[in-house]
Amino acid sequence: MIANRLHFRDCEAGNTAVVEITMNKRDFLKTTGAFFASSLVGDLAFAQRAEPRTNWAGNYTFHAKELLEPRTVEEVQRAVTSHVKLRALGSRHSFNGIADSFETQISLKALDTMTVDKAAQTVTVGAGVTYGKLSPWLDAQGFALHNLASLPHISVMGACATGTHGSGPRNGNLSTAVVGLEMVTADGKLVTLSREKDGDQFLGAVVNLGALGVVTKVTLRVEPTFQMQQVVYENLSMDQLEHNLDAIFASGYSTSLFTDWQHHRVSQVWIKSRVHSNDPATPPAEFYGATVQKVKLHPLAGHNPESCTEQQGIPGPWYERMPHFKMNFTPSSGQEIQSEFFVPRAQGYKAILAVEELRDRITPHLFITELRTIAADDLWLSEAHGRDSMAIHFTWKPEADAVNEVLPLIEAKLSPFDARPHWGKVFTMAPRKVQAQYPQLPAFRAMLQQYDPQGKFRNAYVERNLFSA
Ligand SMILES: Cc1cc2nc3c(=O)[nH]c(=O)nc-3n(C[C@H](O)[C@H](O)[C@H](O)COP(=O)(O)OP(=O)(O)OC[C@H]3O[C@@H](n4cnc5c(N)ncnc54)[C@H](O)[C@@H]3O)c2cc1C
Repeated sequence: MIANRLHFRDCEAGNTAVVEITMNKRDFLKTTGAFFASSLVGDLAFAQRAEPRTNWAGNYTFHAKELLEPRTVEEVQRAVTSHVKLRALGSRHSFNGIADSFETQISLKALDTMTVDKAAQTVTVGAGVTYGKLSPWLDAQGFALHNLASLPHISVMGACATGTHGSGPRNGNLSTAVVGLEMVTADGKLVTLSREKDGDQFLGAVVNLGALGVVTKVTLRVEPTFQMQQVVYENLSMDQLEHNLDAIFASGYSTSLFTDWQHHRVSQVWIKSRVHSNDPATPPAEFYGATVQKVKLHPLAGHNPESCTEQQGIPGPWYERMPHFKMNFTPSSGQEIQSEFFVPRAQGYKAILAVEELRDRITPHLFITELRTIAADDLWLSEAHGRDSMAIHFTWKPEADAVNEVLPLIEAKLSPFDARPHWGKVFTMAPRKVQAQYPQLPAFRAMLQQYDPQGKFRNAYVERNLFSA
């Protein structure tokens, strides 16, 4: 092994940072060759020395020794060719080590262009664009996205790379809106893939866990803009889900159920509907025995609802109703850990009952659970691949040890339902069980071999969850 010292200029302070990389001789020669070749056309002036940095929730500290912040696609290409190990970082909202690296992370937040193609009904965005930046701009162009997650703060590419979803039985996750992408592969080349032209390669490339390359641009399908309203009901008996689960989830364009698992009860039902009028609707006073809200509510008991998007039937643009949380406020709790498991929707009620048996182990460590639905899709590593799904989500208090103790119990309860964990949240499931849930995983591994034979973009998370037994 060779210890390789590379000198980078720290653009903030103008200092020179020394980064030590340990690698084998072959990689050393290859990398230093590429590095010094790149030095001929200028320093990697966008390289930053990394202070210890964490994910958004602060429950995970990155190991990466440096963070690169290129400003152009060419700089991304130079960064890729001059590094042995590299990992793309989005807006840091994942709860585990999926975006981490023992060497180098690269953030594309400076690549933030947005171009709409009105005729094709698509928008193409730089990989640094967040839904919070894209959505109001897209709305002003007369267009909308088909769905959003509970918060707008996340980057489009970071969300699509993990199969991030909203709710709605007929709504695919956010990555199902992708119709094309451009990425820098391990050899520094720019590759474009589209749903129309590239068949299987495209289906493998969208939910990519950051392992295939550094995506620089992504093209999304859009539709004409629309208005929405949301209404919240309180105290739905879980008994209602036994025979009405599909009808309850289909009662809005996007419906979420919140529970703390106590009293066999859903504490809040959030129903988000598309509307054609700007007049506030008067919602029915009852919904399957639940009662309509009297005041605005936060899904987490005791939290200020000011951070939540408008409720009580007040119409507004799609991007201010589909997320639960407003852009300029802290979403959710802020100090938290999240986990989520996807089961076939047809088995949703049985899966709920199985988890409910653990209520007294779960509730003391829980802020709230959210139940949502996601339409089946054809993307290889999507958690809704090939099956209409219901997702059982846990927003935990920041109590990592307790969460790690209770997760294996939940996973065992959900094992008969072939649960798939959310790629961006905390889980303890054995890799072979995760891998068994993805019939196209061998094909994805072959794609990794084709695009990244040396494993430049593979990190410990990918090695463990996609490759180890
Ligand atoms: C408060 C909160 C609420 C949440 N709500 C939801 C929700 O409603 N639904 C849901 O499904 N999830 C939800 N999540 C989880 C979150 O959406 C996912 O973890 C998502 O992947 C985070 O995106 P990010 O931009 O922060 O990416 P990061 O977490 O930074 O990275 C995620 C992955 O994307 C890859 N990546 C990022 N950029 C690129 C690129 N340019 N090229 C290649 N790969 C790239 C990374 O390598 C990594 O593998 C929530 C998280 C938080 C903190």
